[in-house]
Amino acid sequence: MDRVVIVGGGVLGTMHAVMARSRGMDVVHLEREVGPRGASVRNFGLVWVSGRAPGLELALAQRARTLWQELGERVPAAGFRADGSLTLASDDSELGLLKEAAAMPDASERGFELLDPDAAAEVNPALRGDFVGALWCRRDAIVEPRAVLAAFRDYLGAPQDGARYHWHPSKEAVEIAPHAVRDHVGNWHRGDLVVLCTGAWHTGIAGPHLAGYERPPVRRVRLQMLQTEPYAGRLTTSVADGDSLRYYPAFDLPGRAALAPQAPAAAAAAAQLLLVQRLDGSLTIGDTHSYTEPFDFDVDELPYDHLRARAEQLLGTQLPPTRRRWSGIYSQVTGSELYHRSQVAPGVILVTGPGGRGMTCSPAIAEETFAT
Ligand SMILES: Cc1cc2nc3c(=O)[nH]c(=O)nc-3n(C[C@H](O)[C@H](O)[C@H](O)COP(=O)(O)OP(=O)(O)OC[C@H]3O[C@@H](n4cnc5c(N)ncnc54)[C@H](O)[C@@H]3O)c2cc1C
Repeated sequence: MDRVVIVGGGVLGTMHAVMARSRGMDVVHLEREVGPRGASVRNFGLVWVSGRAPGLELALAQRARTLWQELGERVPAAGFRADGSLTLASDDSELGLLKEAAAMPDASERGFELLDPDAAAEVNPALRGDFVGALWCRRDAIVEPRAVLAAFRDYLGAPQDGARYHWHPSKEAVEIAPHAVRDHVGNWHRGDLVVLCTGAWHTGIAGPHLAGYERPPVRRVRLQMLQTEPYAGRLTTSVADGDSLRYYPAFDLPGRAALAPQAPAAAAAAAQLLLVQRLDGSLTIGDTHSYTEPFDFDVDELPYDHLRARAEQLLGTQLPPTRRRWSGIYSQVTGSELYHRSQVAPGVILVTGPGGRGMTCSPAIAEETFAT
């Protein structure tokens, strides 16, 4: 394979470009916006191994984590840091579940260790609030979502290499043919392989290929997020609250059934607290989940009040003011596979639907494309 055309400048498209170039292929990369505006620039930047289901999902995330580390060393502007995470229990039912997780057969592979509050505060001295224990996951990591994509495009377009990587922003792919796509101004882009990484746009060129199944293979999920002004302290890990134990498959253990009810504001928004410090000191805080369309076009204040209060309770201090709020939508497979891959025409494949693990798993998903 000599030449690949990639549609979509999000993290899946960008990682396909990276993996194709590292195998010596020429890459043509189309993005319909001036710069990517999708889920990849709206997320936490969490490379999240801790919550993955044992087996294939964990293996994909672990491979991706290894690749992120290698890529982060090659492209420092991506902001990769192997900071690990702490999931904090606020009551005995959450602590019981953390204990079960720390005893799972693959706990050491994830870098799990159960900590009491003093030990957790030694790992992350910013944690001076109320919690009864913590699960440390040393394998979790962070990248900078608003910097990653441009950092890799700069790397791919560097003078020694740039003639073989062609970035075409503001070019929407509107038609597919064998081994080719046409953009909205009428140019055809041909390659040995065309990879559509069009994210949560389930209409457009991907639309006809996602329709016609008895059950749609992907659905869309909307999340709300916020970012504060810079925080005076330094968080040495990312942080999750006990509500996260309800959502991640790794924690589907007997203790989950014994969890105390969620706070009403969290339950109403299917919220969990995830907290990541950005390189400028600000804190990215989220998230909520809505699964039913049509999605709201405005953001709802109630879950923000809950998430800010929960973060303040765990940090034991007031948060800086909110700088910005936004929502984002990701594409998520509805079946048991880890992401959606289908051939939509000879020499044209569609890769989407990694859901809330897309930032984490993107390098390994792209690697699988070129391994097949
Ligand atoms: C709020 C939020 C928080 C998240 N947090 C995390 C996290 O911390 N860790 C994690 O692992 N995952 C996280 N995720 C999930 C992750 O962000 C996504 O799975 C991932 O970004 C999907 O990448 P993508 O490239 O498929 O999609 P996108 O980033 O949406 O990119 C798709 C791109 O394709 C372009 N496009 C679409 N159609 C066309 C066309 N016809 N022609 C040209 N271009 C086109 C779009 O403009 C867009 O730029 C989060 C998601 C959200 C929304």
